[in-house]
Amino acid sequence: MFFLYSIGDRFGKQLMPESQKPPGQTALMLTLLAALIIVEIVTVSAVVFSQQIRTNEALEIHTWQLLEDAVDETRENAGGFLTLAQTAVLLSQSLFESGFLSFELTEPLERYFFEQLNVVPHIDGMFFGTPEGRFLFTKRSAERADSRYVTKIIDVEDNARRVERLWRDENFVEVARMHDPEDIYDPRGRLWYKDATSQSRLIWTDPYIFFTSRQPGLTVAAPVFTAGGGLLGVVGADVELKALSEFLAGQGIASGGAAFIMHRDGEVFAFPDATQLLQPTEDDQFRLARLNELNDITIQLTDQLARDSVDLARLNGPHSQSFNARGKLYRAEFVPFSPQHEESWIMGVYAPDDYFVGTIRDGQRQSIVLAISISVLIIIFAYFLGPRMMRPLTRLQEQALQDTLTGLLNRSGFIQLAVKTLADAKRNGNALCAVMMDIDHFKSINDDKGHGIGDEALAVVAKRIRRGHSDSDLSARLGGDEFALLLPDTDIDQAAAVAERIRLLISESPLATSNEPVPVTISLGVAQYQSEQDSLSDLLHRADQQLLNAKRRGRNQVRVADHRVAASA
Ligand code: GH3
Ligand code: MG
Repeated sequence: MFFLYSIGDRFGKQLMPESQKPPGQTALMLTLLAALIIVEIVTVSAVVFSQQIRTNEALEIHTWQLLEDAVDETRENAGGFLTLAQTAVLLSQSLFESGFLSFELTEPLERYFFEQLNVVPHIDGMFFGTPEGRFLFTKRSAERADSRYVTKIIDVEDNARRVERLWRDENFVEVARMHDPEDIYDPRGRLWYKDATSQSRLIWTDPYIFFTSRQPGLTVAAPVFTAGGGLLGVVGADVELKALSEFLAGQGIASGGAAFIMHRDGEVFAFPDATQLLQPTEDDQFRLARLNELNDITIQLTDQLARDSVDLARLNGPHSQSFNARGKLYRAEFVPFSPQHEESWIMGVYAPDDYFVGTIRDGQRQSIVLAISISVLIIIFAYFLGPRMMRPLTRLQEQALQDTLTGLLNRSGFIQLAVKTLADAKRNGNALCAVMMDIDHFKSINDDKGHGIGDEALAVVAKRIRRGHSDSDLSARLGGDEFALLLPDTDIDQAAAVAERIRLLISESPLATSNEPVPVTISLGVAQYQSEQDSLSDLLHRADQQLLNAKRRGRNQVRVADHRVAASA
């Protein structure tokens, strides 16, 4: 198409009808355009795809790393939290053993516990119990509006038991005191006392419901011995799990995520939402919640652990777990954890995947959208600019079919299109004629005026030939001073008339050149396509015979194949 336009533009005339375009040109252009688009799509897809894979791999590693960091940090902080209570107990133990503290120095002991509670806010209470059943326990208390602390003192003398409670305000000023003969508490029956004395070392209890406050908690306790090795008592501190849960809530785990501490047997005893920790039992008591009783996320997490046959009771190293909850991907990490060596507890952290990598995933989505947009733009660009970019190629194709001196078709261009025109005429049963033309005594123009002027004369003759035929006809310079014309839908009489018109156009006035005008005549032979068996070369040969005939008969004339002389000079 561009081929036609450009030739038409240059000479103000369309040489080839639409139906006689060089075959394959549009197909080639479309092929190139399609190839460009495919290459572009494949390249962009490959880049985006490989980038996605690499990003996903990196994100996967990065996400687990972040979660591990969160667990490590929480474990360290919770460990520190518990260690503070443990240190308070160990300090008390040495103060008892060095004689600075003793049950008999009741008020200083109470004062000491009071100060410890002031210094370590998450210790709920501190106590000392003796083998005789004596007990001093100072704890925070909201029982009375005017006091902050309550101390219970159980003294045993000659099997007589005396239980006293006294309340103090924040300045250690006593605000109330009472005897409690009903109190039957005996430290020696408590788990922490038994564990600390039987193991003769500092112990942490498993979580249990505190006797006095009815809150779930942990107790750290250490035995106190005399220099001779006799047991003086057990000193301990209570850490309410509510405080541990509040501490975990403040750990800044992702929104939608949480840290928790659980026993290997499945009971959770620290969780940011402490209200979920206690589950009512049938006998109106409370028990600790299990992991799958905390919320919908931990239910999904527990189910996934079961599906993957992960037994937390046997956990002996970190375990990473992906699971789905609330319609999105979550990740959880478990590690054995305990302030003691047994590592009988497990710390866990869960968080939605998008918390860790949400912005990166957003970026990933944006880059896909960007890549698709760029692809679409390139395709649009190619669609509109492709044909323009094809022009040089189209021009090359034109040149291959065109005679550079005259702008007419050259021999191969003429034959290529003439074969198609002949096929069309055969198929449609239309008339078709050919005219062969040769300038008379052209050699003498070259000889007399020079080869350059000869060339100019050839170009002017070509112009006059073009002027003589219609747009649907094909004209060509076959070589030297020889021209051809193919006339579709034209019978022999019409063709003879066209040939005569061209003869007159050329001979009626001398050709303008850069030198003086050159008078020129031309001889023409006309033939008509006749039968199915007629080939292009047959047709051109018959026209050529008539051309020779015209030359023989004196030149500057048209001879027609049926021997009718259309015109003569
Ligand atoms: P006749 O009337 O028998 O055709 O005589 P003629 O001199 O025209 O003889 P012929 O057609 O055989 O000679 C063609 C000449 O055209 C021969 C050659 O020197 C010249 N010629 C061929 N190609 C070119 C060309 O590209 N430029 C020029 N200037 N001359 C050419
Ligand atoms: Mg000649």
